[in-house]
Amino acid sequence: MEMRIKRLNEVMRESGTDGVLITDTINCRYFSGFTGTNGTLLIARGRNLLFTDFRYTIQAKQQTRGLFEIVEVPQANALSTLEGAIRDMGLTRLGFEDETLTVARFRQWEDFRCEWVPFSEKIARLRCVKSPDEIDCIRRAQKVSERAFSELLERIHPGMTEKEAANELLYLMRKHGAEGPSFAPIVASGPNGALCHAVPTDRAFEKGDLVVMDFGSIVDGYCSDMTRTVAIGQPSAHMREIYDIVLEANLRTLAALRPGMAGKALDHVARDYIAAHGYAEAFGHGLGHGFGLEIHEAPYANKTWEGTLEPFMTITVEPGIYIEGEGGVRIEDCCVLTEDGYENFAAASKELVLI
Ligand code: ZN
Ligand code: ZN
Repeated sequence: MEMRIKRLNEVMRESGTDGVLITDTINCRYFSGFTGTNGTLLIARGRNLLFTDFRYTIQAKQQTRGLFEIVEVPQANALSTLEGAIRDMGLTRLGFEDETLTVARFRQWEDFRCEWVPFSEKIARLRCVKSPDEIDCIRRAQKVSERAFSELLERIHPGMTEKEAANELLYLMRKHGAEGPSFAPIVASGPNGALCHAVPTDRAFEKGDLVVMDFGSIVDGYCSDMTRTVAIGQPSAHMREIYDIVLEANLRTLAALRPGMAGKALDHVARDYIAAHGYAEAFGHGLGHGFGLEIHEAPYANKTWEGTLEPFMTITVEPGIYIEGEGGVRIEDCCVLTEDGYENFAAASKELVLI
C-alpha cells in the first residue's frame, strides 16, 4: 500500500494537484486496504485520511494498519467534515474519480471552492501494473476456477440445464476456495451460445450442442476469467470448423503476445485470422481486457484502446465466433505480461472436449 500511495503522490505532483479524493470502493481498497462500503480517502500533503462511519471504524483501523488516519464521522456530518478538512489543509486543486463519482455527489462537492481534476484514468493506469502479490492472488483465483471446471466436466451430461450447470460451477468455485464469482457465470448451450453475454436459462443440453462457459473466481479480492467451449456429443461439421478457427486464433494471438505491443495490434492478430476465414462480422467484441480487483479494467486489446501492453499488466485473450440461430464458440485465457513474455494463468486444455 505504501508503494501505491507513493506512486499516487508522484502522479499528483506531475499533474499539479494538492490531493486526491477517492470514494470508489475498489480504488479505496487498492490504496488503503479498507473493504467497507462507506469510505472516502483524502490523500494530500503527505497525509492519508479515511473518513468512515461508526460501523466501520474498527475494521478500517485493522485493514489500513496505521497507514491512514481514521476519521469517524456520522453520515449526516460527512460533507461538512470533509469540507472542513480540505479547507484546513489549504487544498485548492483536487483529483476526483470522474468516471465513477455520481453527479449528485459531485454537485455536493462543488461548494468546496476547489478546482477539480479528473483522475480516474490516472488511477486506472496505476492499477493496471500489478505487483507480485497481486499476481499471486490472480494465480490462485485461476487455480480455483480450473479445479471447479475439471469437476464440472465430470458432472455435465445431456439433459442438464444451463442454470443447473451455472449453479454447479458457483458451488464448485466456492468449494475450492473462491470468495465468490468474478461475475455471474455464463453457460450458453446450442443456439444460446451466439449470445456473447448469455444469461443461463432452463434450456437442457442436447446431443450436438456446443456449450460456452465463461466464469471466474475471486480470491483475496482478485478476479480470474476463463472461457472454455465443450461439446455434448459430436457437434455439426460447421460448428467443429468454427471451433478450430477460434482455437487457432487464440493460439496465434498468444504466440504474438509480448510486452511493448499495442493493445490494438494484439486484437488485430485474432481479428485478421478470423476475417481471413470469412467470419469478420461474427467476432463483434474486443479480443481482451485487463483484470484484477475488477473483472474488466485497463489495459484493453480491442479496436479502439490506444495504449500499450506493458510488463505486469494483465490481459485476456478471448476470440469468439457467434452465429445467430446456430451457436457460438469462445476460448479465453487470462495472462500477465512479464519482462520478456507472458504467463498464461489458464492451464485447462483447449482441445475440444466431447461429453
Ligand atoms: Zn470471461
Ligand atoms: Zn473476459
